[in-house]
Amino acid sequence: MIKTSCQLLDGRAAATAIEKKILSDIEEFKKNSGRPPTLSVVLVGEHAPSQIYVSMKQKAAERVGLGFQLHRLQSNIKEIALTSLIGEINRDPKIDGLIVQLPLPPHLDPRTALNTIHPDKDIDGFHPLNIGRLITSRALLEPCTPKGIMALLAHYGIECIHKHAVVVGRSAVVGRPLSVMLLRASATVTICHRHTVDLGSYTKLADILVVAVGKPHLITGNMVKPGGVVVDVGISRLDNGTIVGDVDFETVSRVASHLSPVPGGVGPMTIAMLLSNTVRAAQHLAHVKILPEWSP
Ligand code: NAP
Repeated sequence: MIKTSCQLLDGRAAATAIEKKILSDIEEFKKNSGRPPTLSVVLVGEHAPSQIYVSMKQKAAERVGLGFQLHRLQSNIKEIALTSLIGEINRDPKIDGLIVQLPLPPHLDPRTALNTIHPDKDIDGFHPLNIGRLITSRALLEPCTPKGIMALLAHYGIECIHKHAVVVGRSAVVGRPLSVMLLRASATVTICHRHTVDLGSYTKLADILVVAVGKPHLITGNMVKPGGVVVDVGISRLDNGTIVGDVDFETVSRVASHLSPVPGGVGPMTIAMLLSNTVRAAQHLAHVKILPEWSP
């Protein structure tokens, strides 16, 4: 194993720098519109991690001066009531961004809910129209975690052009949109998943390795290219309560040139992108003035 001095990709520091710009954009918006850009979150049921994620989003919104509205719905709510609330928020001119916190209780179809959100208020960037825009390079709102990963790489001056990027994980939330973003940035992209045979033979070739699986210690030092950049997206809680990523920090930090920690890497960047998307949506809606009707 070649020993290198590994630089941490500190997501908290990068997010703080991004938030400064967001703060000035919010001030500018308030001057012109007489109100802050405002985010609405719909939370259904009592799912414990969701409560934590929503409260993190609320704190971040309040920290930068965004307006924040929370709709808490009973877990047995009917689909028609949920979609009709989403429709109301779509039509509310004082709301710029809308999130339906996932997962939903099993009787509710997440796709129906997500497709009902007006694409111009879809700050999670999960709507099929926004995914289509992402692929055709015209995206207004892009999914926050992959966008945050690209912003983290940019913050540390890591270019993608001429690089081989390997993405482990192909979910619609992280792996797939990230692969498109890396491709757009002119990396050569390989995508690995559960059925990839001999994962290490691919990860070892990565100039930029992004791991978004949810399996602690999946990637060890002997699976990483010496001097490669490693971004760890995974979040898992061990039995002893410790939060860890997918990357074995101890062995990988001896090989990689850059490594994002968990916690404190991709997580804060995801939140920063959520704030940034809310401001983008608000600026866009202020510009178009009248939002076209939306029915899925
Ligand atoms: P997901 O929907 O469960 O997808 C996991 C992906 O990993 C799937 O594509 C799966 O492949 C692949 N996979 C599973 N086992 C594998 C293996 N042994 N080798 C290679 N690939 C394997 O999860 P997700 O929503 O993308 O999230 C992934 C992780 O990132 C989770 O820990 C999540 O908590 C975390 N996360 C963090 C943030 C953040 O802000 N920091 C945001 C989102 C997610 P198949 O498609 O073949 O099943």
